[in-house]
Amino acid sequence: MNVKRILVTGGAGFIGSHLCESLLKEGHDVICLDNFFTGTKTNILHLMDNHRFELIRHDITKEIFLEVDEIYNLACPASPIHYQQNPIKTIKTSVMGAIHMLGMAKRIGAKVLQASTSEVYGDPKVHPQPESYWGNVNPVGIRSCYDEGKRCAETLFMDYHNQNNVRIKIARIFNTYGPRMQPDDGRVVSNIIVQALQNKPITVYGDGSQSRSFQYIDDLLVALIRFMNCDDSVTGPVNIGNEQEFTIRELVDIVMDITNSGSKVVFLPLPENDPLQRCPDISYARSLLNWEARVNLRDGLVKTISYFDEMLTNKPDS
Ligand code: NAD
Ligand code: UDP
Repeated sequence: MNVKRILVTGGAGFIGSHLCESLLKEGHDVICLDNFFTGTKTNILHLMDNHRFELIRHDITKEIFLEVDEIYNLACPASPIHYQQNPIKTIKTSVMGAIHMLGMAKRIGAKVLQASTSEVYGDPKVHPQPESYWGNVNPVGIRSCYDEGKRCAETLFMDYHNQNNVRIKIARIFNTYGPRMQPDDGRVVSNIIVQALQNKPITVYGDGSQSRSFQYIDDLLVALIRFMNCDDSVTGPVNIGNEQEFTIRELVDIVMDITNSGSKVVFLPLPENDPLQRCPDISYARSLLNWEARVNLRDGLVKTISYFDEMLTNKPDS
């Protein structure tokens, strides 16, 4: 096998830590770069003894010079409460982080994959969303620092590719869940699971009729690695997500059923600019990567719930 040196920015986060683990399992050398804004050392503790694993504490808004073959650029807070905490920092992370990774890739000839997002479609008017849809995004709303930052990063990736022949891949990732999500990061899956396990009120924003398509982490990892390894002529963007769409109420019902929770459901105001529906059209990923999400929501939730159950048992008040 061709052993590669691979940089994962945001490698101590939810997705990044699983990706580091998968790449190490494939036998590669992995450098994890993170500033620990939303990631934790606990997520990667089990990798620290692996001689192929290196950890660098660094903020991607600052330049860095490394010699690697591939870069997965994941550094960016992803949950609304985290990315809205310091919106200027969030957009700097997307835009300057992209510039720094692309500049590095250009200089050393590395291939670079951008973790983009279904948020580039905003509150979509086309459903399900194909890659050809340009989106419906508010440029000055509370989600803009994230959505527009990711859109600008996509532009930068395409321009570095067209102008400087940098080998790029743009992955538009749809809502992904699984073990190592932070229990307090405000995303719906972790919120509801933690609330259900603690028999606390389940917070549904709006009337819960808004929909999302939830992808289990293992499915995403297969797609990301396959995409990185496909022909250099393929840049994307490519949607990576689960086609099964659920309303938030349906998600709550499944979690309550699995946990056998005594929680009550409370309805809170829907946050501003909260997209009403979201579901990927994955025709392109299917033909390009011979891939589709395989883990159904219930099975993925069972695994995720058992992770949170264990975590909360060890830390009862977290
Ligand atoms: P996460 O918050 O768990 O991980 C993000 C990681 O980036 C954290 O470890 C954080 O400390 C690090 N980071 C943040 N700012 C940084 C900076 N300036 N310099 C260095 N490191 C920094 O989130 P996640 O869910 O693992 O998301 C990872 C990536 O995937 C993000 O780019 C996100 O936008 C993208 N994405 C995630 C989802 C999802 O549903 N989880 C969906 C679409 C896209
Ligand atoms: N949501 C909810 N209760 C919560 C957290 C989120 O009803 O405790 C809703 C939120 O308003 C949104 C959906 O769940 O409509 C998904 O939210 P999340 O933050 O997980 O992802 P995103 O909105 O970024 O897709």
